[in-house]
Amino acid sequence: MAPTPARDLLRSLPPVEEVLRSPQVSALAPLLPHDILADCVRDAVDAVRSAILAGSREPVDGAALADDACARALACLRPSLRRVVNATGVVVHTNLGRSPLADEAVHAVTEAARGYSTLEYDTDAMARGSRHDHVEGLLCALTGAEAAIAVNNNAAAVVMVLAEFAQGREAVVSRGELVEIGGSFRIPDIMAFSRARMVEVGATNKTHAADYERALTPDTAMLLKVHPSNYRIVGFSEQVGMREMRALADAENERRRAAGVEDEVLVYEDQGSGAFINLACFGAYAEPTVAESLRGGCDLVSFSGDKLLGGPQAGIVVGSKQLIDRLKKNPLARAMRLDKMTLAALEATLRLYLDPERALAAIPTLRMLSEPDGAVRERAERLADALRRAVPAGCT
Ligand SMILES: *Cc1c(COP(=O)(O)O)cnc(C)c1O
Repeated sequence: MAPTPARDLLRSLPPVEEVLRSPQVSALAPLLPHDILADCVRDAVDAVRSAILAGSREPVDGAALADDACARALACLRPSLRRVVNATGVVVHTNLGRSPLADEAVHAVTEAARGYSTLEYDTDAMARGSRHDHVEGLLCALTGAEAAIAVNNNAAAVVMVLAEFAQGREAVVSRGELVEIGGSFRIPDIMAFSRARMVEVGATNKTHAADYERALTPDTAMLLKVHPSNYRIVGFSEQVGMREMRALADAENERRRAAGVEDEVLVYEDQGSGAFINLACFGAYAEPTVAESLRGGCDLVSFSGDKLLGGPQAGIVVGSKQLIDRLKKNPLARAMRLDKMTLAALEATLRLYLDPERALAAIPTLRMLSEPDGAVRERAERLADALRRAVPAGCT
Protein backbone atom coordinates (compact mmCIF):
# COMPACT_ATOMS: atom_id res chain seq x y z
CA MET A 1 0.00 0.00 0.00
CA ALA A 2 1.37 3.39 -1.01
CA PRO A 3 1.88 5.79 1.90
CA THR A 4 -0.75 8.53 2.29
CA PRO A 5 0.47 11.71 0.58
CA ALA A 6 1.49 14.56 2.94
CA ARG A 7 -1.35 16.73 1.60
CA ASP A 8 -3.97 14.20 2.77
CA LEU A 9 -2.28 13.74 6.15
CA LEU A 10 -2.27 17.50 6.70
CA ARG A 11 -5.94 17.61 5.79
CA SER A 12 -6.70 14.90 8.35
CA LEU A 13 -5.29 17.01 11.24
CA PRO A 14 -8.17 17.66 13.68
CA PRO A 15 -9.31 21.26 14.28
CA VAL A 16 -8.25 22.72 17.65
CA GLU A 17 -11.89 23.00 18.77
CA GLU A 18 -12.42 19.29 18.18
CA VAL A 19 -9.40 18.31 20.32
CA LEU A 20 -10.61 20.68 23.05
CA ARG A 21 -13.91 18.76 23.13
CA SER A 22 -12.18 15.37 23.51
CA PRO A 23 -12.85 13.74 26.91
CA GLN A 24 -9.25 13.83 28.19
CA VAL A 25 -8.65 17.47 27.22
CA SER A 26 -12.04 18.78 28.34
CA ALA A 27 -11.43 17.14 31.75
CA LEU A 28 -8.61 19.67 32.29
CA ALA A 29 -10.81 22.68 31.47
CA PRO A 30 -11.60 23.51 35.13
CA LEU A 31 -7.90 23.51 36.02
CA LEU A 32 -6.51 26.17 33.71
CA PRO A 33 -7.68 29.14 31.62
CA HIS A 34 -9.24 28.30 28.24
CA ASP A 35 -6.62 30.27 26.27
CA ILE A 36 -3.74 28.36 27.82
CA LEU A 37 -5.46 25.01 27.21
CA ALA A 38 -6.14 26.02 23.59
CA ASP A 39 -2.47 27.00 23.17
CA CYS A 40 -1.42 23.56 24.41
CA VAL A 41 -3.74 21.90 21.87
CA ARG A 42 -2.42 24.19 19.12
CA ASP A 43 1.17 23.24 20.06
CA ALA A 44 0.25 19.54 19.95
CA VAL A 45 -1.35 19.94 16.49
CA ASP A 46 1.66 21.97 15.31
CA ALA A 47 4.02 19.22 16.47
CA VAL A 48 2.21 16.63 14.35
CA ARG A 49 2.09 19.06 11.38
CA SER A 50 5.86 19.65 11.66
CA ALA A 51 6.46 15.89 11.73
CA ILE A 52 4.43 15.45 8.53
CA LEU A 53 6.27 18.30 6.82
CA ALA A 54 9.54 16.71 7.93
CA GLY A 55 8.57 13.50 6.13
CA SER A 56 6.51 11.40 8.58
CA ARG A 57 3.87 9.32 6.79
CA GLU A 58 2.18 7.87 9.93
CA PRO A 59 -1.61 8.28 9.92
CA VAL A 60 -2.72 11.06 12.32
CA ASP A 61 -3.70 9.49 15.67
CA GLY A 62 -6.34 11.76 17.24
CA ALA A 63 -6.16 10.12 20.67
CA ALA A 64 -2.36 10.38 20.83
CA LEU A 65 -2.59 14.03 19.80
CA ALA A 66 -5.11 14.72 22.60
CA ASP A 67 -2.82 12.92 25.08
CA ASP A 68 0.08 15.11 23.99
CA ALA A 69 -2.08 18.23 24.48
CA CYS A 70 -2.94 16.98 28.00
CA ALA A 71 0.72 16.39 28.83
CA ARG A 72 1.52 19.95 27.74
CA ALA A 73 -1.37 21.32 29.84
CA LEU A 74 -0.26 19.35 32.91
CA ALA A 75 3.29 20.69 32.46
CA CYS A 76 1.82 24.24 32.59
CA LEU A 77 0.12 23.39 35.89
CA ARG A 78 3.28 22.09 37.55
CA PRO A 79 5.22 24.73 39.50
CA SER A 80 8.55 25.55 37.89
CA LEU A 81 10.38 25.89 41.23
CA ARG A 82 9.61 22.71 43.12
CA ARG A 83 11.15 20.24 45.55
CA VAL A 84 13.61 17.59 44.40
CA VAL A 85 15.65 14.90 46.11
CA ASN A 86 19.33 15.83 46.24
CA ALA A 87 21.09 12.56 45.49
CA THR A 88 24.28 14.20 44.20
CA GLY A 89 26.30 13.79 47.37
CA VAL A 90 26.98 17.54 47.34
CA VAL A 91 25.47 19.11 50.45
CA VAL A 92 25.64 22.77 49.37
CA HIS A 93 24.58 22.48 45.72
CA THR A 94 24.06 25.81 43.94
CA ASN A 95 21.80 24.30 41.25
CA LEU A 96 19.57 22.70 43.90
CA GLY A 97 19.12 25.77 46.09
CA ARG A 98 22.20 25.48 48.33
CA SER A 99 21.16 25.28 52.01
CA PRO A 100 17.77 23.99 53.16
CA LEU A 101 16.58 26.19 56.04
CA ALA A 102 16.19 25.15 59.68
CA ASP A 103 12.58 24.79 60.88
CA GLU A 104 13.08 27.86 63.07
CA ALA A 105 14.02 29.91 59.99
CA VAL A 106 11.09 28.56 57.97
CA HIS A 107 8.73 29.54 60.79
CA ALA A 108 10.20 33.03 60.97
CA VAL A 109 9.76 33.47 57.20
CA THR A 110 6.11 32.42 57.41
CA GLU A 111 5.46 34.87 60.24
CA ALA A 112 7.12 37.75 58.40
CA ALA A 113 5.41 36.91 55.13
CA ARG A 114 1.87 36.52 56.52
CA GLY A 115 1.40 39.88 58.15
CA TYR A 116 2.92 43.24 58.94
CA SER A 117 6.19 43.33 60.84
CA THR A 118 8.77 45.51 62.57
CA LEU A 119 10.85 45.52 59.35
CA GLU A 120 11.66 49.23 59.63
CA TYR A 121 9.90 50.13 62.84
CA ASP A 122 11.33 50.34 66.34
CA THR A 123 8.53 49.55 68.80
CA ASP A 124 10.62 50.72 71.81
CA ALA A 125 11.24 54.16 70.37
CA MET A 126 7.86 54.16 68.59
CA ALA A 127 9.67 55.54 65.57
CA ARG A 128 11.09 54.51 62.28
CA GLY A 129 13.84 51.90 62.65
CA SER A 130 16.46 50.36 60.37
CA ARG A 131 16.16 46.98 58.71
CA HIS A 132 19.90 46.48 59.34
CA ASP A 133 19.24 46.25 63.09
CA HIS A 134 17.58 42.82 62.98
CA VAL A 135 20.81 40.98 62.23
CA GLU A 136 23.67 43.37 63.00
CA GLY A 137 23.82 42.71 66.76
CA LEU A 138 23.74 38.95 66.26
CA LEU A 139 26.44 39.08 63.55
CA CYS A 140 28.67 41.10 65.86
CA ALA A 141 28.09 38.76 68.80
CA LEU A 142 28.90 35.72 66.66
CA THR A 143 31.99 37.05 64.89
CA GLY A 144 33.45 39.54 67.35
CA ALA A 145 33.06 42.31 64.76
CA GLU A 146 32.16 45.87 65.68
CA ALA A 147 29.59 46.24 62.91
CA ALA A 148 27.93 44.30 60.10
CA ILE A 149 25.68 44.67 57.08
CA ALA A 150 23.80 42.04 55.07
CA VAL A 151 22.81 42.40 51.41
CA ASN A 152 21.31 40.20 48.69
CA ASN A 153 24.25 37.84 48.19
CA ASN A 154 28.01 37.69 48.56
CA ALA A 155 28.64 38.72 44.94
CA ALA A 156 26.73 41.91 45.76
CA ALA A 157 28.76 42.32 48.96
CA VAL A 158 32.06 42.05 47.04
CA VAL A 159 30.92 44.58 44.42
CA MET A 160 29.82 46.95 47.17
CA VAL A 161 33.09 46.71 49.12
CA LEU A 162 35.23 47.19 46.01
CA ALA A 163 33.08 50.08 44.75
CA GLU A 164 33.12 51.87 48.11
CA PHE A 165 36.78 51.44 49.00
CA ALA A 166 38.71 50.81 45.80
CA GLN A 167 36.88 52.60 42.98
CA GLY A 168 39.41 54.32 40.75
CA ARG A 169 42.20 52.99 42.98
CA GLU A 170 44.26 49.82 43.26
CA ALA A 171 43.28 46.51 44.82
CA VAL A 172 46.15 44.05 45.12
CA VAL A 173 45.31 40.34 44.71
CA SER A 174 47.33 37.14 44.30
CA ARG A 175 47.27 35.42 40.88
CA GLY A 176 46.42 32.23 42.78
CA GLU A 177 43.16 33.80 43.94
CA LEU A 178 41.73 35.19 40.68
CA VAL A 179 38.93 32.68 40.93
CA GLU A 180 35.77 31.96 39.05
CA ILE A 181 33.03 30.93 41.46
CA GLY A 182 30.61 29.92 38.71
CA GLY A 183 27.67 31.62 37.05
CA SER A 184 29.88 34.41 35.62
CA PHE A 185 31.31 35.50 38.95
CA ARG A 186 34.99 36.04 38.22
CA ILE A 187 37.16 38.21 40.41
CA PRO A 188 38.77 40.11 37.48
CA ASP A 189 35.31 40.85 36.01
CA ILE A 190 33.94 41.99 39.36
CA MET A 191 36.96 44.28 39.76
CA ALA A 192 36.35 45.80 36.33
CA PHE A 193 32.65 46.21 37.08
CA SER A 194 33.40 47.97 40.39
CA ARG A 195 35.95 50.14 38.59
CA ALA A 196 38.72 49.09 40.96
CA ARG A 197 42.14 48.72 39.32
CA MET A 198 43.28 45.15 39.82
CA VAL A 199 46.95 44.67 40.57
CA GLU A 200 47.91 41.02 40.23
CA VAL A 201 50.86 39.72 42.21
CA GLY A 202 52.74 36.42 42.52
CA ALA A 203 52.24 33.34 40.39
CA THR A 204 49.33 30.92 40.07
CA ASN A 205 50.80 28.49 42.58
CA LYS A 206 52.96 30.75 44.76
CA THR A 207 52.65 34.24 46.14
CA HIS A 208 55.01 35.68 48.78
CA ALA A 209 54.66 38.61 51.16
CA ALA A 210 57.37 40.44 49.17
CA ASP A 211 55.11 40.26 46.08
CA TYR A 212 52.41 42.25 47.86
CA GLU A 213 55.00 44.60 49.34
CA ARG A 214 56.46 45.49 45.92
CA ALA A 215 52.95 46.21 44.58
CA LEU A 216 52.14 48.84 47.23
CA THR A 217 51.87 52.39 45.86
CA PRO A 218 50.28 55.60 47.20
CA ASP A 219 47.25 54.57 45.13
CA THR A 220 46.78 51.19 46.83
CA ALA A 221 43.36 51.04 48.47
CA MET A 222 43.38 47.45 49.68
CA LEU A 223 45.02 44.08 49.87
CA LEU A 224 42.38 41.57 48.81
CA LYS A 225 42.32 37.93 49.82
CA VAL A 226 39.87 35.64 48.00
CA HIS A 227 39.05 32.23 49.35
CA PRO A 228 39.28 29.65 46.51
CA SER A 229 36.04 27.97 47.58
CA ASN A 230 35.66 25.43 44.82
CA TYR A 231 39.17 24.21 44.02
CA ARG A 232 42.58 23.66 45.64
CA ILE A 233 46.07 24.32 44.40
CA VAL A 234 48.05 21.44 45.86
CA GLY A 235 51.72 20.55 45.77
CA PHE A 236 54.35 23.26 45.23
CA SER A 237 52.12 26.10 46.40
CA GLU A 238 52.08 28.94 48.88
CA GLN A 239 49.76 31.82 49.70
CA VAL A 240 50.33 34.65 52.15
CA GLY A 241 48.49 34.33 55.48
CA MET A 242 46.24 36.96 56.99
CA ARG A 243 48.71 37.99 59.71
CA GLU A 244 51.44 38.70 57.16
CA MET A 245 49.05 40.75 55.05
CA ARG A 246 48.05 42.69 58.17
CA ALA A 247 51.71 43.39 58.95
CA LEU A 248 52.30 44.67 55.40
CA ALA A 249 49.27 46.98 55.60
CA ASP A 250 50.31 48.23 59.06
CA ALA A 251 53.82 49.07 57.85
CA GLU A 252 52.45 50.89 54.80
CA ASN A 253 49.91 52.81 56.93
CA GLU A 254 52.74 53.81 59.29
CA ARG A 255 54.70 55.21 56.33
CA ARG A 256 51.61 57.07 55.09
CA ARG A 257 50.92 58.60 58.49
CA ALA A 258 54.54 59.74 58.74
CA ALA A 259 54.09 61.39 55.33
CA GLY A 260 50.88 63.06 56.51
CA VAL A 261 48.60 60.86 54.37
CA GLU A 262 45.40 59.82 56.16
CA ASP A 263 44.18 57.27 53.68
CA GLU A 264 44.76 53.71 54.93
CA VAL A 265 45.38 50.48 53.06
CA LEU A 266 42.64 48.02 54.02
CA VAL A 267 42.89 44.26 54.29
CA TYR A 268 39.73 42.65 52.93
CA GLU A 269 38.95 38.95 52.73
CA ASP A 270 36.21 37.56 50.51
CA GLN A 271 35.71 34.39 52.45
CA GLY A 272 32.97 32.83 50.35
CA SER A 273 31.70 30.12 52.64
CA GLY A 274 31.64 32.01 55.88
CA ALA A 275 31.78 29.47 58.69
CA PHE A 276 30.95 30.45 62.28
CA ILE A 277 31.84 27.05 63.69
CA ASN A 278 35.15 25.45 62.79
CA LEU A 279 34.18 22.15 61.25
CA ALA A 280 37.76 20.83 61.27
CA CYS A 281 36.76 18.29 63.92
CA PHE A 282 34.43 16.68 61.36
CA GLY A 283 37.19 16.05 58.84
CA ALA A 284 37.37 17.66 55.46
CA TYR A 285 35.72 21.05 56.04
CA ALA A 286 38.48 22.91 57.83
CA GLU A 287 37.49 26.39 56.63
CA PRO A 288 38.72 29.37 58.63
CA THR A 289 35.87 30.92 60.60
CA VAL A 290 34.86 34.55 60.18
CA ALA A 291 36.02 35.29 63.73
CA GLU A 292 39.45 33.77 62.97
CA SER A 293 39.87 36.02 59.93
CA LEU A 294 38.95 39.08 61.96
CA ARG A 295 41.32 38.10 64.76
CA GLY A 296 43.99 37.53 62.11
CA GLY A 297 43.76 41.22 61.27
CA CYS A 298 41.15 41.60 58.50
CA ASP A 299 39.52 45.00 58.30
CA LEU A 300 36.56 43.57 56.40
CA VAL A 301 35.35 40.02 55.77
CA SER A 302 32.50 39.09 53.42
CA PHE A 303 30.71 35.75 53.03
CA SER A 304 27.52 34.07 51.84
CA GLY A 305 24.47 33.35 54.00
CA ASP A 306 23.54 30.11 52.26
CA LYS A 307 26.80 28.18 52.03
CA LEU A 308 28.44 26.84 55.23
CA LEU A 309 26.31 29.17 57.32
CA GLY A 310 23.22 27.20 56.27
CA GLY A 311 20.86 30.17 56.12
CA PRO A 312 19.06 32.02 53.33
CA GLN A 313 20.78 33.58 50.30
CA ALA A 314 22.55 36.69 51.56
CA GLY A 315 25.91 38.44 51.49
CA ILE A 316 27.30 39.58 54.82
CA VAL A 317 30.12 42.05 55.47
CA VAL A 318 31.63 42.45 58.96
CA GLY A 319 34.27 44.88 60.17
CA SER A 320 34.82 48.12 62.03
CA LYS A 321 31.94 50.50 62.63
CA GLN A 322 33.62 53.24 60.64
CA LEU A 323 33.98 51.06 57.52
CA ILE A 324 30.55 49.41 57.76
CA ASP A 325 28.92 52.84 58.22
CA ARG A 326 30.41 53.86 54.87
CA LEU A 327 28.93 50.74 53.25
CA LYS A 328 25.50 51.46 54.75
CA LYS A 329 25.55 54.85 53.02
CA ASN A 330 26.60 53.43 49.65
CA PRO A 331 23.68 53.51 47.14
CA LEU A 332 24.44 49.86 46.31
CA ALA A 333 23.44 48.89 49.86
CA ARG A 334 19.96 50.24 49.12
CA ALA A 335 19.79 48.63 45.68
CA MET A 336 20.89 45.25 47.03
CA ARG A 337 19.13 45.28 50.39
CA LEU A 338 17.48 42.20 51.89
CA ASP A 339 13.72 41.67 51.84
CA LYS A 340 11.75 40.88 55.01
CA MET A 341 11.54 37.14 54.38
CA THR A 342 15.28 36.76 53.96
CA LEU A 343 15.92 38.94 56.99
CA ALA A 344 13.54 36.77 59.03
CA ALA A 345 15.30 33.58 57.92
CA LEU A 346 18.74 35.07 58.53
CA GLU A 347 17.88 36.36 62.00
CA ALA A 348 16.38 33.00 63.04
CA THR A 349 19.41 31.11 61.68
CA LEU A 350 21.86 33.42 63.47
CA ARG A 351 19.94 32.98 66.76
CA LEU A 352 20.53 29.23 66.53
CA TYR A 353 24.30 29.89 66.42
CA LEU A 354 24.18 31.52 69.87
CA ASP A 355 24.25 27.90 71.08
CA PRO A 356 26.68 26.02 68.76
CA GLU A 357 25.36 22.58 69.84
CA ARG A 358 21.87 23.65 68.85
CA ALA A 359 23.14 25.09 65.55
CA LEU A 360 24.81 21.77 64.65
CA ALA A 361 21.59 19.89 65.37
CA ALA A 362 19.02 22.29 63.89
CA ILE A 363 20.69 23.74 60.78
CA PRO A 364 20.39 21.09 58.04
CA THR A 365 23.66 21.98 56.25
CA LEU A 366 25.66 21.71 59.50
CA ARG A 367 23.80 18.57 60.54
CA MET A 368 24.65 16.89 57.23
CA LEU A 369 28.29 18.01 57.19
CA SER A 370 28.88 16.86 60.74
CA GLU A 371 27.17 13.48 60.32
CA PRO A 372 29.64 10.60 60.73
CA ASP A 373 30.41 8.65 57.52
CA GLY A 374 29.09 5.43 59.07
CA ALA A 375 25.69 6.99 59.75
CA VAL A 376 25.44 8.25 56.15
CA ARG A 377 26.32 4.78 54.85
CA GLU A 378 23.71 3.14 57.09
CA ARG A 379 21.02 5.54 55.89
CA ALA A 380 21.98 5.01 52.24
CA GLU A 381 21.79 1.22 52.68
CA ARG A 382 18.37 1.43 54.36
CA LEU A 383 17.16 3.59 51.46
CA ALA A 384 18.59 1.19 48.88
CA ASP A 385 16.80 -1.74 50.60
CA ALA A 386 13.51 0.14 50.67
CA LEU A 387 13.88 1.02 46.99
CA ARG A 388 14.67 -2.56 46.05
CA ARG A 389 11.50 -3.68 47.83
CA ALA A 390 9.32 -0.90 46.39
CA VAL A 391 10.50 -0.98 42.78
CA PRO A 392 9.67 -4.18 40.86
CA ALA A 393 12.69 -6.00 39.46
CA GLY A 394 13.58 -4.87 35.94
CA CYS A 395 12.32 -1.30 36.51
CA THR A 396 15.62 0.12 37.72
C1 LIG B 1 30.32 31.81 46.59
C2 LIG B 1 31.34 32.87 46.56
C3 LIG B 1 31.01 34.15 46.13
C4 LIG B 1 29.63 34.51 45.64
O1 LIG B 1 28.71 34.42 46.69
P1 LIG B 1 27.13 34.38 46.39
O2 LIG B 1 26.52 34.41 47.74
O3 LIG B 1 26.89 33.14 45.61
O4 LIG B 1 26.81 35.60 45.59
C5 LIG B 1 32.01 35.10 46.12
N1 LIG B 1 33.26 34.83 46.53
C6 LIG B 1 33.62 33.59 46.96
C7 LIG B 1 35.02 33.35 47.40
C8 LIG B 1 32.66 32.58 47.00
O5 LIG B 1 33.01 31.36 47.43
